[in-house]
Amino acid sequence: MKSYYVRTFGCQMNKHDSERIAGLLETSGYVASHAIETADVVVFNTCCVRETADERLYGQVSSLKAIKTGGRPDVLIAVGGCVGQRDGEAVRKQVPHVDVVFGTHNIHELPALLDAARSGRAAISVLPEGTSFASDLPSARVDRWHGWVSITVGCDNHCTYCIVPTVRGPERSRPLDDIVSEVEHLVADGVVEVTLLGQNVNSYGRDIYGSPRFSELLHAVAATGIARIRFATSHPKDISPATIEALATLPAVMPFLHLPVQHGSNSILRAMNRRYTREQYLERIRDIRASVPGIALSTDIIVGFPGETDEDFEQTLDLVRTVAFDHAFTFIYSPREGTPAARLTKTVPRDVAQERFDRLATLVRDLSYASNQREVGMVRPVLVEGSSRRDLATLSARTPHNRLVHIPLPEGVRALDLAGRLLAARIVVAHPWFLSGELTEDAC
Ligand code: SAM
Ligand code: SF4
Repeated sequence: MKSYYVRTFGCQMNKHDSERIAGLLETSGYVASHAIETADVVVFNTCCVRETADERLYGQVSSLKAIKTGGRPDVLIAVGGCVGQRDGEAVRKQVPHVDVVFGTHNIHELPALLDAARSGRAAISVLPEGTSFASDLPSARVDRWHGWVSITVGCDNHCTYCIVPTVRGPERSRPLDDIVSEVEHLVADGVVEVTLLGQNVNSYGRDIYGSPRFSELLHAVAATGIARIRFATSHPKDISPATIEALATLPAVMPFLHLPVQHGSNSILRAMNRRYTREQYLERIRDIRASVPGIALSTDIIVGFPGETDEDFEQTLDLVRTVAFDHAFTFIYSPREGTPAARLTKTVPRDVAQERFDRLATLVRDLSYASNQREVGMVRPVLVEGSSRRDLATLSARTPHNRLVHIPLPEGVRALDLAGRLLAARIVVAHPWFLSGELTEDAC
C-alpha cells in the first residue's frame, strides 16, 4: 500500500480541504504516513493570502527535492489549493520536481492525477470554477469529535487587498438540506461540535434562495441535536438581527463571534472596499453585546495598508481599545499580485509598518490578558480537545467563549479517551493567551 502525507498552510477552509484530501486518498487505497520523509505521496495544500505563506510553501517544496534525489525517485509531490489555482503550470517552472498540480475546484481529481503522474502522463489540472463542495467528498477527520462543514465557497466581496475571490471564485452556497444532512451524519458518528465555514457566512443562501438564510441554517443545524456550533467568518456589513438573535437564543450556538474589522480609519476602510464605517462597526458591536451579554469577540486587523498615516493607525488602536476585543489576529499588509491594492503606490515603509504592528500586538495581548483574568474563579463547561501540544500530561479544552484552558490530566486516564467530552472546569490562573484550570466534580 502507498502512503500519503498532507501538509496544510492557511485557514480553517484549507484544514477542512485537507481532511477531504486525506479521505479521498484513503478511499483510493492510500494509508496515512506520520512523517513527510517516509511518505510515497506528499501533498501540499497551500495558501496565498499573504506572502509569508507563499514563501514557506516554495521553501518546503524545494527542500523535498533531496528525498527524490537521495534514493527515492518514485515519491510523488503534489501542490494543490490556492497556490495551485493561482500559479498552475508555473509551479513546475519554479520547482520542477513537483509531479502534480491541482487547484481549489478539483480536489476530487487528485487520485487520478497521481495515477497519471505515476505513468508519466501530464498531471497539471486547474479548473476555472467549481461545481462541488469539499464537504461532499469522503473525509478523514483529524478529531473524531469535531467536524468542519462548508456552507459556502468563494467570495463576492472583493476587498481590495484580498486574493481569495481570485483563487476561490465567486460565492456559491450549498443547499440547506445537504448541510443539515451532513451534520446529522456527523452527530450519528459521535461529533459534538461543528464549525460552519464560509468566507462570509452571513450571505449564505443569497445566490440560491434570493436572500441570505444563515439564521435559518443555524436553527436547522441546532435542531440536529449537535452540542456546539461555531462559524467563521462573518462580514460586519452582512450580520443580520436574525443571526444575532440566533446567537442569543440557541444554546448550541456558542457565545463567540469572529467579526473582522480590518481597520479603524474610515478612509482606509473605504480604500479596502469593506463597505462599512467605523461608526457602523461599533454600532453592530453594541447591538451584539446588548443581545448576547458577555459574548467573546475576536477580529482580524491589517496594519500598513497603502496610504495608512499615523492618524489612521491611531484610529485602529482607538477602535481596538473601544471594543476591547477578547482576541485579535493581526497582519502586516502584504501586496498580492492582481489585487487592486497591489497597484497603490503610497506604500508604508516596512519599518514603520513593523513598529505599528508591534504596538498593536502589545495592545491585543494586554486586552486578551485582561479578558482572561475576568474568567478566574468561574466554572465553565469545557470541551476536551486532547492533550496539550507541549505536555502530554495536560489536557487542552475550550470554554463556550472559545478560550483555551489547560487542565492537569487526571491520574489513570488517557487524554485520548477524554477528547470530545464536555466536562466542568474551574478557572484558576489567567495567562495572556490561555487559562489554567482544574476539573470539578460535576460533568456537564
Ligand atoms: N473572509 C474572511 C474575512 O473577510 O474576514 C477572511 C479571509 S482571509 C483568508 C483572513 C484574513 O487575512 C483577513 O481577514 C485579513 O485580515 C487577512 N488578509 C487578507 N489579505 C491580506 C493581505 N493582502 N495582507 C495582509 N493580510 C491579509
Ligand atoms: Fe477576502 Fe474580503 Fe472576501 Fe474576506 S470578505 S475573503 S477579506 S474579499
